[in-house]
Amino acid sequence: MTGRKRTKEQTNRVFGEEMIPCPKCGSWNLGYQSPIKTQIEATDSAEDVLKKYFSETKSGKTPLQGPVFIWCWECFHKGPALDCTGRTSEEVNSDREVARKVRSLWNEQQEKK
Ligand SMILES: [Zn+2]
Repeated sequence: MTGRKRTKEQTNRVFGEEMIPCPKCGSWNLGYQSPIKTQIEATDSAEDVLKKYFSETKSGKTPLQGPVFIWCWECFHKGPALDCTGRTSEEVNSDREVARKVRSLWNEQQEKK
């Protein structure tokens, strides 16, 4: 990932506000993570997986597999998670309030150091 390091400015632009770097490694390579539930089996071919993925996301109601959080792509440090159980991926991804809360959870990490 060394060739794809983000700068502070890039990260702040992506998230739309002032972010703190990863408290563990200082990286600006941060991203949202909102795992989705899929019916993918270990025996599925790549084609099956794509078909299932598209049909599930196309329905517009992709159930979330777990909580939403921001994580570091460099050291895989996870920020505090926001529990969105029972909501769909589409709902959460378009919910600015969820994104705002997850960002503020991430940014609060520094204060606890
Ligand atoms: Zn890190």
